Amino acid sequence: MPEPPKGWVERLAAQATERAASQRRRRIEALVHRSDGHVQRAGRWLLDCSSNDYLGLARDPRQAEALAVAARAHGAGSGAAHAVSGHHPEHERLQAELAEWLQRPAVLLCSSGWSAALGALGGLLQRGDHCLQDRLNHACLLDGARLAGARLARYRHADAAHAAECLAELPEVGLRLLVSDGVFSMDGDVAPLAPLAAAARAHDAWLMVDEAHALGVMGPQGQGSAAAAGLGANDVAVLMGTFGKAFGAWGAFIAGSHELVEHLQHAARPWLFSTALPAAWATLCRSALARISGEPALRGALQQRIEAFRLRAEELGLCRPALSHGEVVTASTLGLLPSATPIQPLLLGSEARALAWEAALAETGFLVKAIRPPTVPEGQSRLRIALSATQPLTDLLRLLERLARLRDAEGCA
Ligand SMILES: *Cc1c(COP(=O)(O)O)cnc(C)c1O
Repeated sequence: MPEPPKGWVERLAAQATERAASQRRRRIEALVHRSDGHVQRAGRWLLDCSSNDYLGLARDPRQAEALAVAARAHGAGSGAAHAVSGHHPEHERLQAELAEWLQRPAVLLCSSGWSAALGALGGLLQRGDHCLQDRLNHACLLDGARLAGARLARYRHADAAHAAECLAELPEVGLRLLVSDGVFSMDGDVAPLAPLAAAARAHDAWLMVDEAHALGVMGPQGQGSAAAAGLGANDVAVLMGTFGKAFGAWGAFIAGSHELVEHLQHAARPWLFSTALPAAWATLCRSALARISGEPALRGALQQRIEAFRLRAEELGLCRPALSHGEVVTASTLGLLPSATPIQPLLLGSEARALAWEAALAETGFLVKAIRPPTVPEGQSRLRIALSATQPLTDLLRLLERLARLRDAEGCA
């Protein structure tokens, strides 16, 4: 074995020591999931309250069967990029069905949310352009703007007035793109999309919305947060969605005008130079779309759980106000952030407390993951409780009782 370049070993070791000291080490565990929403750990079955499978489709036997049938018909892999020979009629059908559902002229399938974000931002933004983003946007949006070489500025979280102010102050040179998550992945709150769209319109910017956590969850037929806010193609020029969350699958897309999609087919490098999503996966996503748009009971079951969870949490005094910027959470200010989505973050403050509560919940039969910096700001470590249509309501209420007992124990400490 050749020696690694001098310095790399030392750097990696120093960073590992630092992670361990600040309780930020992540252990990746292999988990077996059951279709009823439980995961196996050390011989025990825990209720999974940590994944983004909001409608239970990821392990739904009918979905697995749809994938198996499609794989027998179309094969396992796509063999090439869309732009070469990997594009299949099933991709075309999925794109057309998504376009109709979202009421957008065109859709471009991508291999993942990350590649959709890097492709769209990299394909649109040029050096000297301005990209204005919510400071809590998903990492792929922030990195996409940075990699594109655009001037990136971040406005205060979910603050459309601040976004408008920032837009007003931008110099005339360069084009402007305003970008926001629809539902924020670690906070569970919804972006103020209508005022953001108004700000974009007033200041000659395009608006891009990442619907990763809102698709299948919000909107009249599950089309997401922009649809829920009554915003159409004229308000949101670039709509991004992923299939890894409520769709229970894998992959992503960008929806917009024919001109936008045609442009990205020539300028989105992660799309151009990456293997197409397998055709069988497109069939699977079509099946998920048919169920999301055709079975409102799925969304109804999720909504019922969100409402019952919030109601009981209020009764137990577990809710707290929204975070202020840079706030450090303590034992007396811990609690659930305001959220009407399946993402219910329980703010705990320190990494140590988040890890201790995670372990205590696992002992009671719940898999809930601690989220620590750098995913969230310093002093704002939390448990990210994710609700799903398939979780038994009684178990969710039991989870809240357990949280209240943990909170009471903190008070005595
Ligand atoms: C998960 C997520 C992504 C990335 O999507 P993948 O398909 O998992 O790569 C992008 N944006 C947001 C807001 C997400 O939560």
